[in-house]
Amino acid sequence: MFDSYNRRINYLRISVTDRCNLRCTYCMPAEGITLMPHSDILSFEEIMEVVDAALAQGVDKIRITGGEPLVRKDIITLIQMISSRPGIQDLGMTTNGQLLEKYAQSLKDAGLHRVNVSLDTLNPETYCQVTRGGDIDKVLKGIEASVNAGLAPVKINCVIVKSSSEPDAVEVAEFGKKLGLQVRFIRQMDLEKGEFYIVDGGSGGDCSTCNRLRLTANGMIKPCLFNDMEYNIREHGAHKALQLALGNKPSCGTINKHGEFYNIGG
Ligand code: SAM
Repeated sequence: MFDSYNRRINYLRISVTDRCNLRCTYCMPAEGITLMPHSDILSFEEIMEVVDAALAQGVDKIRITGGEPLVRKDIITLIQMISSRPGIQDLGMTTNGQLLEKYAQSLKDAGLHRVNVSLDTLNPETYCQVTRGGDIDKVLKGIEASVNAGLAPVKINCVIVKSSSEPDAVEVAEFGKKLGLQVRFIRQMDLEKGEFYIVDGGSGGDCSTCNRLRLTANGMIKPCLFNDMEYNIREHGAHKALQLALGNKPSCGTINKHGEFYNIGG
């Protein structure tokens, strides 16, 4: 499908939960967030309605995100449901890696193609501080398990303050090189202030080539991360909500006053 600016839209990012087992300083407040009521969170059947409508309209790339997707109950079943649909060229997941060692092989067996793992530093203390309690050993074991399971290519998402020459980023780059993993540097953004940047080593943030739509855990199709617009699938139905998002996708991001990374999926 093509939007009004003739960009081919073939990528759907699905946030399966607003819950997360970390509290990264740049993503969530220390005290946590007001969680969506369970009744607002889409069931797997509702998510599949959106997946089917999106595939019918030309989407062939899907990424599962969150919150932390691996804390969603029965996530493996959802991956199986999605991967069983014909026409998906690329099925990925973005995860903080805390539970990845446990799930990597089951994710692969369920049909997931690949994972992006968030890792901003290799220093265990800094990692624990930035994530407010995360255990870096679990991430490193999760990365190893993903490589062994064949969730290839395993990529690293590294959030930087300003530049990829910051010491933590340099260490993450060296780690990636040693293990043959691609590292993407994501400059810290502020949606409310309209501060967003092109991802170094990735495709995000470049409005002129944007190919994505997003589904939030509570059923909103968002045409743009950097904009408040959203269309409720429970109100419009999946097909129409996707069409509305496609037709109203802005040429360029501006400001998102209400959305946050943890409920849109980064
Ligand atoms: N919990 C998963 C994880 O940590 O990878 C998936 C969701 S997380 C919101 C997705 C991505 O958003 C992560 O790579 C994270 O680093 C990024 N992110 C979160 N807040 C951000 C911010 N303020 N600026 C830039 N990237 C951000």
